[in-house]
Amino acid sequence: MSFDYDLFVIGGGSGGVRAARVAAGETGAKVALAEEDRYGGTCVIRGCVPKKLMVFASEFSGMVGDAQAFGWDIQPGAFNWDTFHGKLVAELDRLEGVYRNILKNNGVESFDQRAHLVDAHTVELADGTRKTAKHILIATGGRPVVPEFPGSDLAITSNEVFHLDKLPDSILIVGGGYIASEFAGIMNGLGVKTTQFYRGAQILRGFDDEARGLVCEEMRQNGIDVRLGTNVLEMTKEGDQIRVKATDGTEDRFEVVMYATGRAPNADNLGLEALGVERGRKGEIVVDAYSQTAVPSIYAIGDVTDRVNLTPVAIREGMAFVETVFKGNPTPVDHELIPTAIFTQPEMGTVGLGEEEAAAQEPIEVYATTFKPMQKSFAGGTQRVLMKLLVSKATRKVLGCHIVAPGAGEMIQLAGIAIKMGATKEDFDRTVAVHPVMAEELVTMRQPVRTA
Ligand SMILES: Cc1cc2nc3c(=O)[nH]c(=O)nc-3n(C[C@H](O)[C@H](O)[C@H](O)COP(=O)(O)OP(=O)(O)OC[C@H]3O[C@@H](n4cnc5c(N)ncnc54)[C@H](O)[C@@H]3O)c2cc1C
Repeated sequence: MSFDYDLFVIGGGSGGVRAARVAAGETGAKVALAEEDRYGGTCVIRGCVPKKLMVFASEFSGMVGDAQAFGWDIQPGAFNWDTFHGKLVAELDRLEGVYRNILKNNGVESFDQRAHLVDAHTVELADGTRKTAKHILIATGGRPVVPEFPGSDLAITSNEVFHLDKLPDSILIVGGGYIASEFAGIMNGLGVKTTQFYRGAQILRGFDDEARGLVCEEMRQNGIDVRLGTNVLEMTKEGDQIRVKATDGTEDRFEVVMYATGRAPNADNLGLEALGVERGRKGEIVVDAYSQTAVPSIYAIGDVTDRVNLTPVAIREGMAFVETVFKGNPTPVDHELIPTAIFTQPEMGTVGLGEEEAAAQEPIEVYATTFKPMQKSFAGGTQRVLMKLLVSKATRKVLGCHIVAPGAGEMIQLAGIAIKMGATKEDFDRTVAVHPVMAEELVTMRQPVRTA
C-alpha cells in the first residue's frame, strides 16, 4: 500500500517539530506536519521561553537594592511593560520563524491548519484535504483549564498573561504548582501587588517538603501574600476590579485573576475514540514505552500523553520515536531521574526523590544545609539557600538532590549528570569544592543532619 507520506505529525510544538525534522533530515523520510496555531508550541510561544524572559525582567528590581549595598549610587526606576512586551512579541515572532525554517530546511512539508484522524493512516486537515501516512504522530500538547464556578470566566490563564494590555496594580494567582508559583514571583518582582491562593497545605506539591517550604517562606519574605488552604468561592466584576470571595471568609479586589490550577491534554475531537486509541483518566493518550498507542500506526508524544510534561521530555520522546520507527533501533523513553528547575524566586533545582519519597522507599541519610549566600548576606539581605542530598544507606547512592538558590536550575543540570550516573555520597565527597560558590556545600557536607 502506498501513502502520501512516511510520517504525518499533528502539532508543531517541542516534540512534534523535533520528531518531524529528525525523521526527515536524518532518515530521509517523507514527512508532513500540521500546526493549527503557532510553530514552536506551548514552550516557545506561551510557556518556558516567554516565562523565563519575564523572570529575567522581574529579577532586576531586587538587584538595585543589592547594587546600592555594594556601593553603587543607583536608584530603582519604573518598569515599562510596553517596552518589554514589544520586545517579547518580536522575540517570539523571531523564534516562530526559526521553527518554521527548521522544518522547511529539513524538507518537512507543513500545513498551517488543524488536523484530525480519519483512520489509522489518514488525517484530514481543516480545509477538508485528506493525507495518508504510514505512521501518524500525535504531538498536540496541552492547554490550561479553569474550573467552573460563579465568575470563573473572569479569570485569565498562562495563555493570556504574556499579553496583558498593561501591568495590573494587583493580581491574584490561583494554584500551587510551578506555573502559579513562578508567576507569583514574576508579578511581585515587576512591582504588582501579588496574592497567591492555594487550596493545599503547601505549594509545589510533589517536591521535597523542606525545599518547597523554604521557597514559600522566601516568597512571603519577598512580599507575596501566599494564602495556603484557601480557594476561590466566587468572583464578580466591580468596575475595573474583580471581587473575589474566598473560602477563608475574606473578600478582596484584584485587577487581574490568573488561574494556574491545571492543564488538560489536547486529545479531544481528534477522532481517536472511533479508531480505538485508548485514553486515560485525564483524557491523555495512553502509550507504551515506545510512545505507541493501541493502534500500531499511531504514536503520541509530549504533553498529550501526560507522562512528564516538560519540553526536554517531549523532545526526548520525539527522538526515541524516530529512533524506534525510522532507524530500526527500538528505544524506550527513560523517564527516570529527570533534573528540573522551578523558576520561582528563589529558584529551585531538583533531581530524584524528595526526602519523604526516598524515606518511604528505603533507609536514608539526609545531608542538608541552609545558609545566607555571600552576595545577599553582604548586601544585608535575609535570604537563605538550601543544599540537600538524600543518600541510600544501603548503596550510598545519591537518591535525590534539591537546591533552593539563585541559579539552582543551572546547578541541578550538572548535579543531574552525576546522579544519573549513579554517583554515591563518597563520589560527591571525593570531588574538590569550587570556592567560593554556593554549590560547594554539595561536596562538603560531612555529617547527615538526620536519618530516616
Ligand atoms: C506557562 C508554562 C511554562 C512552562 N515552563 C516550562 C519550563 O520552564 N521548562 C519545561 O521544560 N517545560 C515548561 N513548560 C511545559 C512545556 O511547555 C511543555 O511540556 C511542552 O511545550 C510540551 O511540548 P509538546 O510538543 O508536547 O506540546 P506543545 O508544545 O503544547 O505543542 C503542541 C502543538 O500542537 C498544536 N495543536 C494542537 N492540536 C492540534 C491539531 N489538532 N492540529 C494541529 N495542531 C494542533 C498546538 O497549537 C501546539 O502548537 C511550561 C508550560 C507552560 C504552560
